[in-house]
Formats: sequence, C-alpha cells, structure tokens
Amino acid sequence: MFKKYKIKVNDKVMVIAGKDKGKIGTVKKILRKKDKVIVDQVNIVKKHQKPNPYTGQTGGIIEIEAPIHISNVMLFCESCSKPTRVGYKFTEDGKKLRYCKRCKELLD
Ligand SMILES: [Zn+2]
Repeated sequence: MFKKYKIKVNDKVMVIAGKDKGKIGTVKKILRKKDKVIVDQVNIVKKHQKPNPYTGQTGGIIEIEAPIHISNVMLFCESCSKPTRVGYKFTEDGKKLRYCKRCKELLD
C-alpha cells in the first residue's frame, strides 16, 4: 500500500515530541516503509565508523541524523512561524495544493 504523507522532502518541519522537541529542520528523506523521516540537524546520533582503507575513509566517531517517526513532526509554516496542520485545496485544473490551516497560506 502506498501511503500519502502530508510532508514532503525539503519541507520545513518542527519536532513535536522526543528529545529534539521544538527543533526546526528541513526534511532530507522520507522512509515510507517505516513511516519515518530524516530531518536535517535533528535527532543527531554519534556513530562509530570503521576505517576503510579502500575508500581512504578514516575511522572515528561521526554524527548522523537518525530517522524520527513522521507523527513526531509537524509541518512548519513560514508565514505564521508556527507548526501547523495541512489542508488541501484543488485548483480549477485539478491540481492539489497544500495550505496552512492556521493562516490559509499556500504551502506548495
Ligand atoms: Zn501559516
């Protein structure tokens, strides 16, 4: 089943639960099978990396963004500077556009 999310890659979102609650970032990736998203600079975890002589990669600790559940983020509306619910409206030619339910500003 193909799930439709209201959040897309490159959207600005605010984290509404967990240790990074209140952080705002840009969606880098959507993991559809897991209902998770990767948000830029949010949910940073440290990971040990093994050196790889083939690629010249040095070992050490790297910081990466761990995926967070899509229900823990909300779309962030830049015109009202708040996390918001998304509504849909249809244009005359049948295009579906997202809008901010708070200020009615179009998001697409
Ligand atoms: Zn708004």
